Amino acid sequence: MPFDMSLTPAQHDLVARTHDFAANVVRPVAAEYDREQEFPWPVLEEAAVRGFYSPLFYRDLIGDPTGLSLPLFMEELFWGCAGIGLATVMPALALSSIGQAATPEQLLRWAPECFGEPGDLKLAALCISEPEGGSDVRNLRTTARRDGDDWIIDGHKMWIGNGGIANVHVVNAVVDPELGHKGQALFIVPGGTPGLELVRKLDKLGCRASHTAELKFNGCRIPAENLLGTEEKLEERLARAKEGTRGKSATLGTFEQTRPMVAAQAIGVARAALEFATDYANEREAFGGPIIRNQGISFPLADLATRIDSARLLTWRAAWMAANGVEFRNAEGSMSKLAASEVAVRATEQAIQTCGGWGYISDHPVEKWYRDAKLYTIFEGTSEIQRLVIGQALGLAAGEPPLHVDSPVDGSALNRIFGPGTPARTRAGEMALAAKDHIPEPAMKVAMRFLTPKR
Ligand SMILES: Cc1cc2nc3c(=O)[nH]c(=O)nc-3n(C[C@H](O)[C@H](O)[C@H](O)COP(=O)(O)OP(=O)(O)OC[C@H]3O[C@@H](n4cnc5c(N)ncnc54)[C@H](O)[C@@H]3O)c2cc1C
Repeated sequence: MPFDMSLTPAQHDLVARTHDFAANVVRPVAAEYDREQEFPWPVLEEAAVRGFYSPLFYRDLIGDPTGLSLPLFMEELFWGCAGIGLATVMPALALSSIGQAATPEQLLRWAPECFGEPGDLKLAALCISEPEGGSDVRNLRTTARRDGDDWIIDGHKMWIGNGGIANVHVVNAVVDPELGHKGQALFIVPGGTPGLELVRKLDKLGCRASHTAELKFNGCRIPAENLLGTEEKLEERLARAKEGTRGKSATLGTFEQTRPMVAAQAIGVARAALEFATDYANEREAFGGPIIRNQGISFPLADLATRIDSARLLTWRAAWMAANGVEFRNAEGSMSKLAASEVAVRATEQAIQTCGGWGYISDHPVEKWYRDAKLYTIFEGTSEIQRLVIGQALGLAAGEPPLHVDSPVDGSALNRIFGPGTPARTRAGEMALAAKDHIPEPAMKVAMRFLTPKR
């Protein structure tokens, strides 16, 4: 599917429906949930009623070959509130890793358990990070060992969205410590499993409507079928890793797909801040006129508009690549996450500056957005880790131009011979021009119809 920025009617309506939900359901209660640090159950119920909290909805968005539906939805929802947005989409992050690792039967079994249905909502959590290993996923210490027909999970997880209150915990654990991150596998630990302990709910700077927790797995016994993927596949993967054959880590695979998704969330926060700051600067008067007339105010906003749009383009490209299975050879997923998260922090900070003292108190939402935005340079890979991935891609490209255009090729054979920019086309144009005085006017008109650029 070629990359195309025009929206389908369904995408256009998705943006409008999500914007309506964000503006009229999410925003009116965002400050309260932030202040109280409460889980926004009624908002999730309304999301479910409107069709935004369902595995089938996310299956459609993830499976959309244009790649745009998922970032469009994320941007609009997080424009409303990042904390409530995270509470709403957390099961989709878990579902994304289930989708990558599970058999079709496992997917059918667990996807509904991640969301439930209106009136009986369920939650899911993706449990990767640990107190000693956030960025360094090779250093994860939670273990899974076979015991008869069961697996036993032992370990300590940190920063887990929906941790301990979820119905489904997707847990990354080491099955072969010698193989590092290639010796890990994903397991389902249902909520309420004996030994699953919610140590504490974390008291956060921002995104406070979402529940983030420290968890312990104290000898959690789960049935063999809760290993995501088949045991044969796991054995094959471990054997390949032992031989040193290049293989993909289940955890790192998930990150590749989710980075553009998270980037789009950050763009939603950044756009909210830019919009608010621009409105404020047009209305607020100082020294006899609206403050936007000062270049000291308008230039930083102009720079932000440019950076937000660039980050959005990077994000859409990465989302299109993820949807079409195009490899991130130049770390395009990391580029989108880095650009979007950094501009979210910059935009929210500038929004506070634009509002002056009014930006520093909670009468306006910008101080909250500033606290929310900061998370984006930390989770789903910190900004430093994104730079590390981009730097590694530059290293791998040593000797080749690293940002050389290398998109998949799509089109007819005729296009290769006579498409725009081909020598044949240029020669034909030159010949037509040279002969123009000798060619009858009707024939010239026909030739020009083919050669004139489309308006
Ligand atoms: C609110 C919140 C929600 C989260 N939700 C989840 C979740 O649902 N599930 C989950 O599994 N995890 C979650 N996380 C965890 C998150 O992904 C980690 O916090 C993140 O990966 C960073 O890990 P760390 O906190 O251990 O920092 P560290 O890895 O200790 O890093 C500390 C600092 O060192 C830098 N650093 C580390 N290594 C390098 C290097 N090689 N080069 C340069 N700099 C380096 C980092 O960039 C950072 O600045 C969440 C975190 C937060 C704060």
